[in-house]
Amino acid sequence: MHELSIACNLVETADAAARTAGASRVRVVRLQIGAIAGIVEEALRFSFPIAAANTLLAQAELVVVPVPVQIYCAACDQPHTLEPPYVLRCPRCQSPANRLLHGRELQIESIEIEESPEVEDATAYP
Ligand SMILES: [Zn+2]
Repeated sequence: MHELSIACNLVETADAAARTAGASRVRVVRLQIGAIAGIVEEALRFSFPIAAANTLLAQAELVVVPVPVQIYCAACDQPHTLEPPYVLRCPRCQSPANRLLHGRELQIESIEIEESPEVEDATAYP
């Protein structure tokens, strides 16, 4: 499954970042997904815990931050946000979009980590 390999890459990246930061585990992963990134969110959510098993992300919550499609129109000299079905034309003047500004994102926005817990904290996380 396409999304499983994506999830594995994301987990690998976040796990490495968390280890570098001295985390004992990752609580939350915020992931930006562009509307035309070609990601099936359901499939990614299904794959995420599988990819996260035996890593610092094993119990992490996956928060998806949707990124709308935005194009730049040279004729209007301004950006426009598109609605589905995302025909890459200016919604105002119908010129073909000169540039895609947003919508293909697939990147970790941030992670929330838990630093190595003190012994007395152990009961709080059974
Ligand atoms: Zn335009």
